[in-house]
Amino acid sequence: MFAQELVLRQRAEILHALCSSGSAEGLERVLDMLLAQEVLVWEDYQNIQVAGRALCTNARRLLDLVYTKGVDACGLLLAALNQVLPEAQRAGLSFGGCCSNLEETEELHGTATQTLLTERPGLVGKLRDCIDGALEALVESGSFTSTECDEVQLPVYTLSQQARHLLDHVRSKGESAAKVLLQYIQQKEEGGSPLNQEKWTPPQECLKYQKKLSSSVSAQCCFLSTYGGTGNMSLDDIYTEGQLELAHDCADVHGPLGLEDIVGTVGTLNEEADTVLVSGEAGCGKSTLLQRLHLLWARGAALHDFLLLFPFSCRRLNSEHRELSVQELLFQHCCWPDREQDQLFQFILDHPHLILFTFDGLDELKQSFSDEHRHCCPTQRAPVPILLFNLLQGSLMKGVRKVVTSRPEAVGPALKKHLRKEVLLKGFSPGGIDCFVRKHHSDPTVATRVLESLQTNTALLGLCHTPVLCWIVSQCHKELLGCGEGSPQTITDVYLMILQHFFQHQNPQKNTLGIGWMQGHLNTALHLGQLAFEGIGTSCYIFSGKDLQACGVTEEDICMGFLIQSKDISSTSCKRYEFLHVTMQCFFAALYIVLTNDMERSTIPKLFQLQDMRQTGLRSTCFSLCLPSTVLQGVSEGEAMAAETPNLQITATFVSGLLSQRHQSLLLQCCSSPTLNSKARQVGRCLSKGMQRHFKSIPKPVEGEKKSMHAMPGFVWLIKCIYEMQESRIAKDAMTKLEVEHLKLTYCNIGPVECTTLAYVLQHLKSPIGLQLDYNSVGDVGVEQLLPCMHICNSLYLRNNNISDEGIRKLIAKGIQCESFQKIALFNNKLTDACTQHFSHLLKTKQNFLALRLGNNNITSEGAKQLAEGLKSNQSLKYLGLWGNKIGDAGAEALAGALEGSKTLVWLSLVDNGVGSAGACALANIIKNNTTLTELWLTKNCITRTGVECLIEALEHNTDVKSVWLRSNELSVEEEEEMTQRESRLIF
Ligand code: ADP
Repeated sequence: MFAQELVLRQRAEILHALCSSGSAEGLERVLDMLLAQEVLVWEDYQNIQVAGRALCTNARRLLDLVYTKGVDACGLLLAALNQVLPEAQRAGLSFGGCCSNLEETEELHGTATQTLLTERPGLVGKLRDCIDGALEALVESGSFTSTECDEVQLPVYTLSQQARHLLDHVRSKGESAAKVLLQYIQQKEEGGSPLNQEKWTPPQECLKYQKKLSSSVSAQCCFLSTYGGTGNMSLDDIYTEGQLELAHDCADVHGPLGLEDIVGTVGTLNEEADTVLVSGEAGCGKSTLLQRLHLLWARGAALHDFLLLFPFSCRRLNSEHRELSVQELLFQHCCWPDREQDQLFQFILDHPHLILFTFDGLDELKQSFSDEHRHCCPTQRAPVPILLFNLLQGSLMKGVRKVVTSRPEAVGPALKKHLRKEVLLKGFSPGGIDCFVRKHHSDPTVATRVLESLQTNTALLGLCHTPVLCWIVSQCHKELLGCGEGSPQTITDVYLMILQHFFQHQNPQKNTLGIGWMQGHLNTALHLGQLAFEGIGTSCYIFSGKDLQACGVTEEDICMGFLIQSKDISSTSCKRYEFLHVTMQCFFAALYIVLTNDMERSTIPKLFQLQDMRQTGLRSTCFSLCLPSTVLQGVSEGEAMAAETPNLQITATFVSGLLSQRHQSLLLQCCSSPTLNSKARQVGRCLSKGMQRHFKSIPKPVEGEKKSMHAMPGFVWLIKCIYEMQESRIAKDAMTKLEVEHLKLTYCNIGPVECTTLAYVLQHLKSPIGLQLDYNSVGDVGVEQLLPCMHICNSLYLRNNNISDEGIRKLIAKGIQCESFQKIALFNNKLTDACTQHFSHLLKTKQNFLALRLGNNNITSEGAKQLAEGLKSNQSLKYLGLWGNKIGDAGAEALAGALEGSKTLVWLSLVDNGVGSAGACALANIIKNNTTLTELWLTKNCITRTGVECLIEALEHNTDVKSVWLRSNELSVEEEEEMTQRESRLIF
């Protein structure tokens, strides 16, 4: 008898044999074999094996499908059954001679993904015993997230089922994941554990060098320079985790990264590239982070994959004027090998994957990155910037991993295209601030008092997200705790506080002289100011004794503590100095501009014009123009000043702050009132002009769309300068000229500090706008900072901003009082059910509220019930989005009950919420009873035929609904086709 006939005739028996035990294992093994034999293709498999559907339905679907595929397919099915079914169940069946061993198939492998199918039965067996290890390998390679691992290892699955889910997931990830898995299994088979594979040890000479290098690195990294003066604080004692994130969206990566993820595979954009960029604003902790990585490597506590780590500082590379080969660069700038340099270098060339280079502060390199000059030979000499650029783009020392830090402004598209990935360092989280302050103060009561005082001054708390400011605030805790009302609000206030602190700390008796503290130290301020100013103009951050002398810097000035001795591995015998931090140098440069009487009048306007020059692609030479030509010697013509713009921006911010009315009495001790006033007027004019230039760039709106402005680079900086001035007149003046309906500041690096400044300025807008702050780091502290401008926001877009329920509580409390506030979007934050009571209150209270979008948060049925309470008494909401939460049937039922009577709802999305047919039937009541709804989104749920029948029936009574989206629910292709025929508004 033909195999096909055997399958047909024995249908009931086969079904019984496959399903009577209640276990799906038999059917699943048969499916594995048929996939391997290519009787079934992947789509067939997905149609048969539908999760949550009865085992017998799946088995029937298999028999139907195989039957239609003909005699050969049926033969192979019988052979598979013969092999899989236990003796007792096989006994009553006839196999008609189809008994070949299906696991012994010929190996005809193509891609790794294909191999997963053709070897599926064997792979399931192998994986059963090493699911954990395989998942670990996949996570490590960046192919899997921990959520996906949890999905694979759901406790309801048997080990074989876990193995199959693993295979299915890997398949959906594509070729590279499949390769990782196959490689893992192969290694496991060959060597027991993949880790046992590497029995190889590096040559002795190399190990000796590693020891020398790590002890030198370790010695360099134990202490933070900002704690140099206070002695006994080691990096271990004070290091606090900063917030690290990928700069680009990566579907598999959610939440913060760890230190080792910087060099790991997570979030890799370009497999071919070697260079990882860590970017962040000045003072956000980039150097400290590298220092930590170096120290951990040197101790063998991290980066185990790298045998040798070579740390470089771009600031120090600036002073290398010789041409060098890579070999000379490594050995002369990092660590000199005692013997056999050439062999050692050869080893490095031969084992690039064991080597890591780090370059701190690319923004401080005098030359900006360019990939025009190719240099590929590691033994040939070239100017150091050329070596560096070729290393970063991978034309030199390909395969060696490189980590480079920079401020974001200094990284242009030329470098970006050579990046493996970009990681953003976003300073301390609120918890990080707490942790840092507690580490800084050995006395816990002092730490608590500092933290309490920060809580009462949220503008200052916002500033403390930047570690360098957190450090200053902690250093100046006595001043901070003593100043009550006048506690610092702006960055300038904070730097003035540390200025006073250092002056008085070093020279307490000067207080008693009866003159103000600034006046008492005017000479020091001017000397250091001139040094800083000239350094900023020439991208010089390390100063020789001669430089100090030229600016009149004395031993006494040095003792104040703003300058520290430069740590230079390749140090020459003479002492060299740098400012405690580059922002400190900018602050002194600003002090100099403000305090000195013989500053050219054009300096301030030029300082504020730099954004223009950047936009036109020209290099700003404003400082060069203000500097005497002697200072410029040594900066060769055409040497671009990459670091200039960010440092000039910071300097300009400080100039604005220092010239604010609030500091007049302090500065009047040192210079005349007309001079100060004239400089302050100049700054006011520059800011106003700068703003107008931005407003002029706003394009005419497309018909039907709102007049919208997307912030150009420099906009946020201007806003910050206005904030530093703390004069509402200037803020008002700037904002009255802004005529837009929508202000877009997505991906603008807006943190709490920027929120403070934005709110300060935007509150003066004439009419309400939509404020779009998606993809920033606003957080709960930032939300609180935004409150003063809530009344001018009709819509607030805060997608992807790390906001939690606490932030929402404050936001809503204020929003309820704001008449114009009508829409909010909070997609992808950290919201849970706890926030829904606030939204419920908002909906009850505000009868003009239009749109609530809470997608991709953690709202369950309980939260939906709370929302429903609010919705019941709301008569205004048009858009409700809950995409990607977990409201389930119970939540859908609660919402449906509340929305049935809505006379305003137009759009409802419950995509991906675990809603089943019960929920769908409840939602059908909205369709039945409501006349405003036009779109209902139910994609990616678990609705079956029953639920869709309810929806169809409801649609019969409704002509207003335009579409009901039902893709990826639990219906077969045939069912979907049939239902579309019956109701064309259903979209599958
Ligand atoms: P960047 O290189 O981004 O300009 P730095 O790493 O130089 O910033 O940080 C400036 C100062 O801030 C450090 O000297 C230190 O006092 C403090 N700091 C930065 N990051 C950390 C951290 N992770 N833990 C403790 N303190 C930090």
